[in-house]
Amino acid sequence: MSYDDNNIFAKILRGEIPCKKIYEDDFVLSFYDINPQKKIHALVIPKGKYVDLDDFSQKASSEEMVGLLKGINTVAKKLGISVDVGKGYRALVNINEDGGQEVPHLHFHLFGGEKVGKMVSWILKLKEIF
Ligand code: 5GP
Repeated sequence: MSYDDNNIFAKILRGEIPCKKIYEDDFVLSFYDINPQKKIHALVIPKGKYVDLDDFSQKASSEEMVGLLKGINTVAKKLGISVDVGKGYRALVNINEDGGQEVPHLHFHLFGGEKVGKMVSWILKLKEIF
């Protein structure tokens, strides 16, 4: 899939749509998700035009890759959910349609501020049983 310059995160990066910014540097922009699924729900996106994680893995420079990972750590620290303060969080990336991705600009979801639980909930397990 080629990159769509009109996707919502491209517009946020260009400042055409507002966001609740958490952090920004040369490589990443981080802001709160508009529809939080946990007490803290942040998004971290690379500044480069990458559709998804596969696209990023294949085309991004080593500098951009390091920048994105370091950016995630910096955001976790800023939010007070990093391991060095005894907390933790879930980092999640949806990839393409089968992976549940809606916005076609690579983004990491960071969920935290509470115990986020197992990925497979007990309700899903019950559904498997019955
Ligand atoms: P995906 O399903 O693509 O992994 O996640 C897209 C995320 O972007 C969703 O969690 C959704 O709530 C969030 N989102 C969609 N539009 C906006 C927006 O305009 N601003 C912000 N901050 N988040 C958005």
